[in-house]
Amino acid sequence: MEYTCPICGYPNLEENPRSEADGPSYEICPCCAFEFGYDDDDQGYTYDQWREEWISAGMPWRGSKEIPQNWDPKKQLENLKKISLVS
Ligand SMILES: [Zn+2]
Repeated sequence: MEYTCPICGYPNLEENPRSEADGPSYEICPCCAFEFGYDDDDQGYTYDQWREEWISAGMPWRGSKEIPQNWDPKKQLENLKKISLVS
């Protein structure tokens, strides 16, 4: 099972960013580099703040993984419409 990043729409997170049972995943999104459970809980960023910052920085690929072929950040953001942002 793969999960969508609620910030940038990256569709291949390995863990649920924030599940009711397990809490935050501490996975770092390979696209926008948000760490669930750290950047939000410890650093106080909201998803919206991080997304706005990422978009205004030009939607860069920030992760250590290779950029997917034909990666299109704008198209990727469309994924957010498919998931519920309400936890
Ligand atoms: Zn992301």
